[in-house]
Amino acid sequence: MEKYEKLEKVGEGTYGKVYKAKEISTGQIVALKKTRLEMDEEGVPPTALREISLLQMLSQSLYIVRLLNVEHVDKPPKNATHTPPKPLIYLVFEYLDTDLKKFIDTFRKGVNPRPLPNSLVQSFLFQLCKGVAHCHSHGVLHRDLKPQNLLLDQQKGILKIADLGLGRAFTVPLKSYTHEIVTLWYRAPEVLLGSTTYSTGVDIWSVGCIFGECHRL
Ligand code: AMP
Repeated sequence: MEKYEKLEKVGEGTYGKVYKAKEISTGQIVALKKTRLEMDEEGVPPTALREISLLQMLSQSLYIVRLLNVEHVDKPPKNATHTPPKPLIYLVFEYLDTDLKKFIDTFRKGVNPRPLPNSLVQSFLFQLCKGVAHCHSHGVLHRDLKPQNLLLDQQKGILKIADLGLGRAFTVPLKSYTHEIVTLWYRAPEVLLGSTTYSTGVDIWSVGCIFGECHRL
């Protein structure tokens, strides 16, 4: 991790903090995300490897945030002097300047509160559907699509899906790693009710909620 200079915390997701950082050798600005994946004595566990390679494959799409690198850090355990350090896995993503939630708020909470213009909503929805179709065509459900997870390149008008769940257990957490309640407004009822047999419809439900959110004042 000496390769990166942490600049600021840009967000806090369900699974951990996200930092804006600079890769020292190239000057490239990236987003660093600590994962819950841990290395064991034999290195990266196969389940984690499978998930990371899936994420890498999915991130080839223009509509999915690009995974640039995977790094591990030897973090000493808290209050344990005799336990060997447990390496943590960090994901290095391309950095995008805002997310759809912050973007909607600049329209809604400005001096002249208004919803997003229809042409922008149309473009964002189209890109969101392309990203969701890409995930589904590779057999991956997002299950927690929400404006906070949709990153925007404001200059180019590009929308990218982030936070593709690592650790695809059947249940999606109701609280973040810091025990904060996470937004459930966009979650499909079957996910909320703990069904274990849901399918691609769960993401389409969220797309509909996000569409509604873009028009709401
Ligand atoms: P996430 O855990 O992916 O939902 O991230 C939480 C927050 O961190 C998001 O709402 C964004 O504001 C920010 N964030 C996540 N990934 C990136 C990224 N690649 N570039 C810039 N900001 C990010």
